[in-house]
Amino acid sequence: MNVNFRIRAIFLLIPIVGLTAICGCIPSKSDVFDLKNIKKHSPIMPVAIIGSGPAGLTAGLYSVQRGFKTYIFEGSKPGGLLTETTEVENWPGENIILGPELIENIHKQVEKPGVTFIADAVEDIDMSSWPYKLTLESGEQVYALSIIAATGATPRRLGIPGEDEYWGYGVTTCAVCDAPFRKGQDVIVIGGGDSAVEEAIQLAPHARNVTIMVRKGHMRASQRMQDRLVGYSNIEVAYNVDVKEIFGEQKEGPFGPIKSVMSVKAYNSKDKTDFIMHDIKGVFLAIGHTPNSQLFCKHVRCDDNGYIEAQGRSQKTSKKGILVAGDVADHVYRQAITSAGSGSMAAIDAADFLRNIGFNDLYAEDIISNLYHPNDDDRPVVQYAHDMQEFNQILSENQGTVVVDFYGQACPSCLQMLPIYEQVARELEGKAVFVKVDIDEAEDVVKHLNVVKVPCIIVFKQGKPQAPIYRTLRRKELMSLVHTAAH
Ligand code: NDP
Repeated sequence: MNVNFRIRAIFLLIPIVGLTAICGCIPSKSDVFDLKNIKKHSPIMPVAIIGSGPAGLTAGLYSVQRGFKTYIFEGSKPGGLLTETTEVENWPGENIILGPELIENIHKQVEKPGVTFIADAVEDIDMSSWPYKLTLESGEQVYALSIIAATGATPRRLGIPGEDEYWGYGVTTCAVCDAPFRKGQDVIVIGGGDSAVEEAIQLAPHARNVTIMVRKGHMRASQRMQDRLVGYSNIEVAYNVDVKEIFGEQKEGPFGPIKSVMSVKAYNSKDKTDFIMHDIKGVFLAIGHTPNSQLFCKHVRCDDNGYIEAQGRSQKTSKKGILVAGDVADHVYRQAITSAGSGSMAAIDAADFLRNIGFNDLYAEDIISNLYHPNDDDRPVVQYAHDMQEFNQILSENQGTVVVDFYGQACPSCLQMLPIYEQVARELEGKAVFVKVDIDEAEDVVKHLNVVKVPCIIVFKQGKPQAPIYRTLRRKELMSLVHTAAH
């Protein structure tokens, strides 16, 4: 072979090798599973599950039952989307059960045999060598022998004018969170699937009128779900309508501007006319989901829509030791039960992977001192203010930074924030005081501070409130909020 030809051949090969290495088709450095080396890494997780919806929780249960030390990263939405649904009528063994209750039951069942829950999120994964290195939001780094991606999907947004501006001020994807704040008001639900029907039914007991805005001439929702609408006289379905813009107003409140939705502009595709719906106070989006696969798609094969590809009838991905479960890989079935089923399969596949590379009881014992140990300090660090008197007392005793978290028992996002809030409170003990206020109990505090929805965080600096933040905060955001206030 002459030199020129050899050089050209090398250049031709580079992209091919590069591409195949990216999608995991040929062995790379990370496909060397050298068990003799794992003791050099610390802390270690034999099975790390990212996500704590039905897929992640079930994977945890099966994994620990197979004898592997298992960790579940709860992420920024502990419990996943099921915590935002109300009645689940298709979980075997339960005639009817509330979504949050079902998740709580599975959580307890999984915790009992020893799965460790971590109130942190994974920010990055380095799969260039094995064990795989995970960087957490807290900045910690841990090593995983196998990873199950159970990161679920996020509700889609419309991308129309006014959506961002009024997000959290009437525009939302969580009916169960916002419904109590829409008492006697007119609201719309956008979408034609099962979620749209469910959101409308959640809103009907609170709102005056609920209009489901369907862009086609028919709904995608199952007939069983559509039949449920019949019993609600205040729910109407409008077909062939596309919402184009959301309008609102801004008023000065005691701690800064308060925005609210006032009307929407829509287009009727049948008679080709624009029209305005006045006096609309809530816009609830139910237009499908986008897979949360960003952490993985640079390492494993994903389809054009960003869903992680599972291989054949397994939950294996294109990279060894990386398994997938639930909605992040499924745009077809997307049911709690199918997520749970795929979680069990992913755990079995993870166990097979570990056994096939020779990870046995001897190795498991050898790395006991390298295993990840979360801080299990569970002293109570959060105070509760049950009324205005207790609230004022806490403020007068603490002239530094006081972080107040308003929550509702029926608000899934609020309950999801609880472990994050408690963890941050523990980490920042001495720097700030953390107080929780139940909106149904301490109505006088809610009124006094003009809290208009939950979740709501208000930071007090030397007794003075800052502008409220009406959304779930990630661990990192809450930490930086407190640090900024404390300086
Ligand atoms: P789907 O993908 O099933 O439906 C999305 C809906 O939103 C469709 O009607 C779609 O319209 C519409 N849509 C999408 N983009 C836009 C847009 N830009 N403007 C207006 N409308 C838009 O999602 P769901 O969240 O409803 O359901 C997901 C899965 O979860 C399904 O499998 C469902 O069965 C399941 N589910 C089950 C429940 C239960 O059993 N209790 C409850 C909720 C969900 P188009 O039809 O024109 O594409």
